[in-house]
Amino acid sequence: MSAEIRVTLWNEGIHEKELPRCKAIYPDGMHRVIGAYLKGKPGIAEVNYAELSDPEQGLSEEILAKTDVMTWWGHTAHDRVTDEHAARVQQRVLEGMGLIVLHSGHMSKPFMRLMGTGCMLKWREYGENGERERVWVVDPTHPIVEGLAESFELPNVEMYGEPFGIPKPDELVFISWFQGGEVFRSGCCWRRERGKVFYFRPGHETFPIYYNENVVKVIYNAVRWAAPNRMAMPAYVQGNTQPLEKME
Ligand code: ZN
Repeated sequence: MSAEIRVTLWNEGIHEKELPRCKAIYPDGMHRVIGAYLKGKPGIAEVNYAELSDPEQGLSEEILAKTDVMTWWGHTAHDRVTDEHAARVQQRVLEGMGLIVLHSGHMSKPFMRLMGTGCMLKWREYGENGERERVWVVDPTHPIVEGLAESFELPNVEMYGEPFGIPKPDELVFISWFQGGEVFRSGCCWRRERGKVFYFRPGHETFPIYYNENVVKVIYNAVRWAAPNRMAMPAYVQGNTQPLEKME
């Protein structure tokens, strides 16, 4: 784990401006609520914010170069993120940047590129108040669950259900149960070359999910888990190479 983590909270930032209900809950954007929790926590050196409407979609080379862990929230404008910028995020992950993909980010370009699969799921917005979710810890030894009880409840959510079209996670951390009967792999970890990816389900824009203490605690733990370890990497040869032994 890195002691000094620079976090960039990337947010599509459209629902907060266009959906009155979302605006009322998150007047400054969901990423600001998550950032306020992370700021000053042990190990966190910097909290920066980036949005789709920023220059270079908030994904410039400079921003990515000084980001150890990026969180990603997107929903309605996945297709507006350019392929070039999505490829840049993917490349930074391969080089070691941690990526935490939240909620509807399951269909974002960077996540889909890193997974290589369809990433679809079932979903339901049930009435005004949604339904109840119970998030179960299924790996009590994992650093992402530090400080949590064996399960926690979110009273009003949008449901996501299996099957979830992801490659089998390297580590499965949470499974959710929903009032309507479905279950879902809510917390999944993968390694992609030097980088770590964590998908975390909670976070629908019309419910105050990111004010929930357990949810932001998971994001904080995940930031620490996903941070590059900064160990010196040997220079591996990739590509054409000469034999080490005599071959004649
Ligand atoms: Zn949603």
